[in-house]
Amino acid sequence: MEITYQNPFQKPGNWYKGNLHAHTTMSDGKKTPEEVAIRYEKAGYHFLAITDHNKRTVIPGYQGNILLIPGEEIDITCGGCYHFIAINTKQELGLDPEKRKNMQPQEIITAVRQAGGSVILAHPYWSNETIEMTKLCSGVLGIEVFNHCCYTDWGNGHSMAHWDDMLRLDIKVNGFAVDDAHAYTVRDFQPDDSCGGWIMVKANHCTADEIMTAIRSGDFYAASGPEIHSVTISEEKITVETSPVRSIAFRTPRWGGKRMQNADNKMMTCAEYIPKSSGVRCIRVECTDELGRMAWTNPMWFS
Ligand SMILES: [Zn+2]
Ligand SMILES: [Zn+2]
Repeated sequence: MEITYQNPFQKPGNWYKGNLHAHTTMSDGKKTPEEVAIRYEKAGYHFLAITDHNKRTVIPGYQGNILLIPGEEIDITCGGCYHFIAINTKQELGLDPEKRKNMQPQEIITAVRQAGGSVILAHPYWSNETIEMTKLCSGVLGIEVFNHCCYTDWGNGHSMAHWDDMLRLDIKVNGFAVDDAHAYTVRDFQPDDSCGGWIMVKANHCTADEIMTAIRSGDFYAASGPEIHSVTISEEKITVETSPVRSIAFRTPRWGGKRMQNADNKMMTCAEYIPKSSGVRCIRVECTDELGRMAWTNPMWFS
């Protein structure tokens, strides 16, 4: 059995933290683009994609210290609700709103790629998507396995089942955690929707080219809290080291896999697993800390 995994933990380079989904006053967000950039810069982020609804927001003459990657969020209602995050586009898509409504998912994905960008399927659980819908999105880099705003505001921010549905069909997509921040502040019974979902990208330099190359290669992991320190694959054994977490799960989209947690709930920082060969096509690791926050590796494929 051979395991194929773009293992960012074994590559040279630096870890860069970023959020690829955020709104500003240019659509329905509550902070200006400049304020949003400062919010993330102060929180220690290295890169940010501002993704206003159907609008490519840039900050002219921006002089700050966080890398801004242009993007926009495109929504269609054809055959159900789909939102797509377009990142690193060279120009605004500028789709006519009436025409956009009737476009198919694949048409949007193609249009973004023609604009030089890459596509992430946004919050499939919030969008009420079924696998019959998500499987039509095979040209995307991945899906939002975690959307912080959907979690804080509606409780449907996790889309692990949607991700696994795609993996079960051998659709090789990666998992992104994002904010989708709108409010940027604490509200009644709802925490601040910013800085709660991010990706950690392994690259040599924090430039748009290098970050995008690493993202497209899968050299990142997604998180809403815990850190993943290492993933090693030795012969057929997968070993994972993390910050203190309550559980570490080796998830397979089919039967199999294994979830580990100490019986006395003592926190753990390491787990290992030897996949059984029968029927296992792919494994991904997810861990959960004492507050329910999670981290997700991208899938490791078996052949
Ligand atoms: Zn959306
Ligand atoms: Zn959004």
